[in-house]
Amino acid sequence: MFKITHYRDKCIGCNACVEVAPDRWRISKKDGKCTLVGAKEKKGIYHVDLPEHEMEENIQAANNCPVKIILINGRKP
Ligand code: SF4
Repeated sequence: MFKITHYRDKCIGCNACVEVAPDRWRISKKDGKCTLVGAKEKKGIYHVDLPEHEMEENIQAANNCPVKIILINGRKP
């Protein structure tokens, strides 16, 4: 297992994470920001624990995020 953290408030809706990990990231039609599928919110920050086989594409999502708001195991990759 590994953890993803998403600072959704700062998302600019650029779609970069969706392109590499479409099963886990989705642009919201409501506000144009990205939603981390399956995540729980705590004080405005979203968290989810995922199995190892999703790690590679989500590391790529984190790397591609232009505003660096996706953390993997609490760190910017
Ligand atoms: S790559 Fe970052 S800024 Fe772009 S939609 Fe995903 S979380 Fe938002």
